[in-house]
Amino acid sequence: MLRVAVVGSGPSGVYAAQDLVQQSQVPDVRVHVLDRLPCPYGLVRYGVAPDHEKIKSLQNNLRTVLEHERIDFIGNVEVGTHGLGPERLLDLYHAVVYCVGAARDRRLGIPGEDLPGSHSATDFVSWYSAHPDASGNGFALGASSAVVIGVGNVAVDVARILARGADELRPTDVPQAALGALGLSRVREVHMVGRRGPSQAKFTTKELRELGALPSAEVVVEPADLALDPAYEDPSAAAALPAVNRRNLDVVRGWAAQPARGQERRIHLRFFLRPVELLEDAGRVAAVRFERTVPDGEGGVRGTGAYEEIAAQLVLRAVGYRGVPLAGLPFDERHGTVPHLGGRVLRDGVPSPGEYVAGWIKRGPTGVIGTNRPCAKETVASLLDDAAVLALRPVAADPLAALRESGHRPVQWPGWLAIEAAESALGVTLGRGSVKIDDWPGLLTAAGHGTAG
Ligand code: NAP
Repeated sequence: MLRVAVVGSGPSGVYAAQDLVQQSQVPDVRVHVLDRLPCPYGLVRYGVAPDHEKIKSLQNNLRTVLEHERIDFIGNVEVGTHGLGPERLLDLYHAVVYCVGAARDRRLGIPGEDLPGSHSATDFVSWYSAHPDASGNGFALGASSAVVIGVGNVAVDVARILARGADELRPTDVPQAALGALGLSRVREVHMVGRRGPSQAKFTTKELRELGALPSAEVVVEPADLALDPAYEDPSAAAALPAVNRRNLDVVRGWAAQPARGQERRIHLRFFLRPVELLEDAGRVAAVRFERTVPDGEGGVRGTGAYEEIAAQLVLRAVGYRGVPLAGLPFDERHGTVPHLGGRVLRDGVPSPGEYVAGWIKRGPTGVIGTNRPCAKETVASLLDDAAVLALRPVAADPLAALRESGHRPVQWPGWLAIEAAESALGVTLGRGSVKIDDWPGLLTAAGHGTAG
């Protein structure tokens, strides 16, 4: 028997577990999918926006995998605590696949970034997704204008959530406290700002189009921003673009031509503005200062020395995620990933027996959920090629008992099902559908663990 631990139950972890049990090369593989949280599914539960029900329904596929007879979900177990580092994991399992994602936001590195009222988009996403570590309830309180820095899909998500009224979010599983706070929001202007042009933006067209279809908001585009894009008025430059960028440009072009509709909220889509400073008033952020940029002819931009300020009492920095080092594992600071070769973790440039990575911690925070499938497949293929040697190493007979002995209090699948049931029951009492529980005591109590962590 080959015992494998997959650390992280997001899409990359679940796809890795699935590949491990669905192959015939090594018949008897048993997989423990460990997660720091008592709930599975990683960013599908704690990153996909609540109004993206279709993407969230992917949880049903992930659930089927985690219910496989040779896979066990073991939540509430944090690798790196209670002596459970990479070394100890190799005492318990023949192989370990780290699928821990990219948990932190990238920094802008400009003055004022940490002013009250300026937040990473990842914090805002965690809050409206009911992540039990999310702090604060006052994101939109007192703000009438918000700036979202970045033009990737996370920026689109947070701009859209800010531009939706509470009535639009009530049917989703957004936690009750976040729904209440968003219901009180007076944000009417949302400025989503890119440092490069619309033909270089990172969002995908389906997500972009959604902004134009919101019931109580409209998109406003400045023709002067678009005119700076080399592909805007030059059909041959546009034709040379990758299809997604060309489609994005067409969507933005359509909005620029459209008359104002007088909606309650506006999403201003801005381009060629590089943030240089967050400005303060009375100890809080009051505006963002941008430098006008122009294309540098090589896909990047250069500053022009002209500046523009956009008033904002709320700033969300959506400039990408970053991997976090895990004590005891090598880490490439520059890329925020674990160095690897075909998914095999490299220690001092040499594959480390029994240690693997998949997902964002392997390739960086890019791609959509489906991108994790081939990524996990490559890693599992490497692991299976090594299996004959790995299986020779003696490991603990009962890793779950060993985890308990060292102070962990695992939440297993029945505990997670109890959390799901409690969230349905909470929804019934609130007159809503299933509503997420957003705090540790609530989750652990629902899982049958009392309130202690
Ligand atoms: P992203 O796609 O990498 O976008 C980051 C944005 O931040 C880019 O516009 C980038 O501009 C900008 N940026 C970076 N550094 C900056 C700086 N110093 N100043 C100003 N702007 C800066 O990252 P993301 O939006 O966090 O998304 C991460 C991944 O998750 C992506 O693969 C995304 O598609 C995926 N995702 C998908 C969905 C969905 O499918 N619905 C939802 C959310 C996330 P430059 O291009 O100029 O660097």
